[in-house]
Amino acid sequence: MPYQWWSHDPIGVEETTCKSLLHPFTAHHSECPNRLVINPYTGCQHRCLYCYGTYFFFPNFFDIIQVKTNAPQILQKEIQKYKKKHEYFPQVYISPATDSYQPLERRYHITRQCVQVLQSHNISYYFMSKSDAMLEDLDLHAHYRDRCMGIWTITSLDEQRRKIWEPFTVSIKKRLDALERFSEEGIPTAFRIDPILPFIDDSSEQLEAIIAACAERGAIHFTTSVLKLRKEIWTRLENFFQDRGESTLLQQYQNLYFNPSDRRGSYYYPKTNYRQNILTLLQNLAKKYELSFGTCLEGMPHFNTGPCDGVCLPALKIKKPQQKFK
Ligand code: SF4
Repeated sequence: MPYQWWSHDPIGVEETTCKSLLHPFTAHHSECPNRLVINPYTGCQHRCLYCYGTYFFFPNFFDIIQVKTNAPQILQKEIQKYKKKHEYFPQVYISPATDSYQPLERRYHITRQCVQVLQSHNISYYFMSKSDAMLEDLDLHAHYRDRCMGIWTITSLDEQRRKIWEPFTVSIKKRLDALERFSEEGIPTAFRIDPILPFIDDSSEQLEAIIAACAERGAIHFTTSVLKLRKEIWTRLENFFQDRGESTLLQQYQNLYFNPSDRRGSYYYPKTNYRQNILTLLQNLAKKYELSFGTCLEGMPHFNTGPCDGVCLPALKIKKPQQKFK
């Protein structure tokens, strides 16, 4: 039996309620834009091997999906509260720590309801996904095209590689088709090549093929980031390489990572010159395909030619009730 990084099949589903949903984006980097985030689910059915969302506070990330059934109601209350205290409502990033359009969304429609709440307040939002389930909500997003954006993560065009690294996602073709349908509706679209896996899918040919495919389908921006290793991510990778007898890759990763000077918080970054070379290559490719380009958590914002996440949607100016003279 090949190595698996999850414990339960089929995956468990737990309907739950949340006390809060709307949070500031806290990626702990000064280069990150001011956004608010919501995660309608905890855990993710896609089970990507390299996933950053598998934090220790939810060790069942790949085994149980918590469906926050009251998310739309909580969001409604939190928006009203936020509006009373602030002059601007930032853009909302839907699902930085899960996939808002994972398969369960087709059953529960929690993301859809949250989107309806955001739209009812004129708030700009964007989602990031590896799915095509958002096509069911295409009309909903399309009538709001000036204030929403769709972003798809595409790390490779190789279907065999996708089945190994992102085993429960839809095919790359379905993701590209979804991106194209959104573009055709006039909704701004972008893609993320994130994470780039060193020595696996980092050649200029592989990267250019992704960029060409997405640019052809109407994307206007891409964001990229090279794989960072946290302890449990490295454990999964190490087990995976060992299980497959990939001793060369194992050695290459050990050489590229784990230099104390390349540690940021709980993450090990690849060597700086490796990252600089990749980002230079991608910046040039962005120019060639006339796309704006951003880097994510690389600490090298000088490579960016647009906002790091590609989001140019307006923040909502909140109208305060006029003061009456007494
Ligand atoms: S789609 Fe995103 S959140 Fe879901 S498992 Fe993959 S990397 Fe993690």
